Amino acid sequence: MVIDAAVIARWCDAAASIDAQATIARLQDEIATEVRRQRPLCVSSGKCCGFEAHGHRLYLTGLETAWTWARLERRPSVREVEAAMAGGSCPFLASGCSIHGVRPPGCRIYFCDRDPAGWQSALAERCHHEIRSLHERLDVPYRYAEWRSLLAGFAAGETAS
Ligand code: SF4
Repeated sequence: MVIDAAVIARWCDAAASIDAQATIARLQDEIATEVRRQRPLCVSSGKCCGFEAHGHRLYLTGLETAWTWARLERRPSVREVEAAMAGGSCPFLASGCSIHGVRPPGCRIYFCDRDPAGWQSALAERCHHEIRSLHERLDVPYRYAEWRSLLAGFAAGETAS
């Protein structure tokens, strides 16, 4: 995905704002509380991050991606992101999530465990609504796209700068 460097810069500035940091921290707390309450089964199968093999896709906004991007100790190159796409998984999947502490909200909500009550989709919808409102408050472009395509755009921007 080609993303204008100026748009990435705006997302990164917005992600560093007090509003974004407070909103994302609050959402993470709320997600953690709900996950503790629901107690989904996790056997570390890796299904949540092995997208193609398990028919799962992670969609995020540019602002959420910028939040994680700013916190990465090591940022992936375009080649690494593309290799992960070709392999059907996330570039941060190692023996588990290699960026566990700074993984985006969508990764914190999704569990492959059965969810007959629909709590995951309800929580994902509520969080997404809040993130969308955050884009509006901070007056930054709204883009909702597949995680690795956003990462590829950020990595390409880094190479170009
Ligand atoms: S960032 Fe981590 S939790 Fe999210 S999809 Fe990638 S490996 Fe999985």
